[in-house]
Amino acid sequence: MKRSPEIIPEHVEICPYCDTIMKVPELGEGDRFTCDVCGSSITHLAHKPVIKPFVYSLVSIFLFVCVEIMPFMKISMGGNMIEMNIREAATSIINDEYRFLGIFIYCCMQLFPLVCLLIVGFIYGFFLCHKYPPFLRPLARLFFKLKEWSMIEVFLVATLVSMVKLISMVDMSLQGGFFCFCLFIFFYVVVISSVDQWFVWNRLVRLDRFMNFSYLAGQRAYRENLIRCETCEAINSKRSDRCLCCGHRIEQRKKHSQQKCLAFLIAAMVMYIPANTMPIMITEYMGNASESTILDGVIYMWETGSYPVAVIIFVASVFVPVVKIAILLSLWMCIQFNRFRSTKYKTRLYHMTEFIGKWSMVDVFVVAILTALIHMGSLMSIYPGTASLSFCAVVILTMLSANSFDSRYLWENTDSGSLDTGEQK
Ligand SMILES: [Zn+2]
Ligand SMILES: [Zn+2]
Repeated sequence: MKRSPEIIPEHVEICPYCDTIMKVPELGEGDRFTCDVCGSSITHLAHKPVIKPFVYSLVSIFLFVCVEIMPFMKISMGGNMIEMNIREAATSIINDEYRFLGIFIYCCMQLFPLVCLLIVGFIYGFFLCHKYPPFLRPLARLFFKLKEWSMIEVFLVATLVSMVKLISMVDMSLQGGFFCFCLFIFFYVVVISSVDQWFVWNRLVRLDRFMNFSYLAGQRAYRENLIRCETCEAINSKRSDRCLCCGHRIEQRKKHSQQKCLAFLIAAMVMYIPANTMPIMITEYMGNASESTILDGVIYMWETGSYPVAVIIFVASVFVPVVKIAILLSLWMCIQFNRFRSTKYKTRLYHMTEFIGKWSMVDVFVVAILTALIHMGSLMSIYPGTASLSFCAVVILTMLSANSFDSRYLWENTDSGSLDTGEQK
């Protein structure tokens, strides 16, 4: 039987980044719609948008189990053979004094990705049977919250960096778990990128029921007394404080956005100092302990000729947090001091901070992998240093700061785009 192609029907949306009301045309499979005003991606319908996330999520869960049970890496040193699987890398620090850091790493690279995949498999399984029970709604909400905290792809880069670090010290080989892990990441990224928020919520709460109102495409929603629900993307009137579709709380703007953004930024700046000056890793070799900071690691890699790794660690650990803090601070000041020129460019910068933030975790993951691998008592052991905790705090704080920043303030005092007054049928 031939499958009829899925579509996203013509509908009205409010851009979450610039607050512009817009008419989204009918989208076919593979189509993407971007906001004309700020250039942000709004809705994307993947090819085979129901069956693909379902099948791929099942494949990913299967690969996840394979990665869990198969050895990931093997090293031999001084007659000792050590095998590590991925769970040990994630949990090695939990037993240590850095319990919080261990739990955070475990959540970002094991728990959150798995929960996201289970939710997608579950929800899309119901979609395939054309069933949309209300208990799927909290799961969908949880999925869209958790997916940005999953850092599984960063762990892959961390694995490659640790290999380069180890190769001069020990004999090492990659095991089956590593290859399953690479495949897993491929399927995981496809699953996450083929789940569209509007598409999911339209099935769960029938957003298109509410298409029946007049609108002013190109106008800012707050001037028309309309609010976009952050959870399900439904358009609500300003009069209610709960979304008509999903029942979640709605607000015109993120609450205390400016204050929270600045507070998290200041905290991140404070934590950035110990993150770079304190030791991130302690190596114990033949009873002698030596401490190294992030910069020591970069210099060591550069001097030993591993230029790409030195550049990766420098960019991810030293450069990215500074750039992210600088961009967020400058955006914060633009709003505070009413500078509203080249807003489209600033919105693009904001998207960049959302994307780059988690890559700073590379060095912390490297320390976790080395701690799990090298634990041969006084012969040679590696432990995390104080900076790993400060570093993790910098990443979390800058992510929280970017999350609490509301880019719609940037657009509030700019002129609306083209006015296309129309009546939706
Ligand atoms: Zn926009
Ligand atoms: Zn809603």
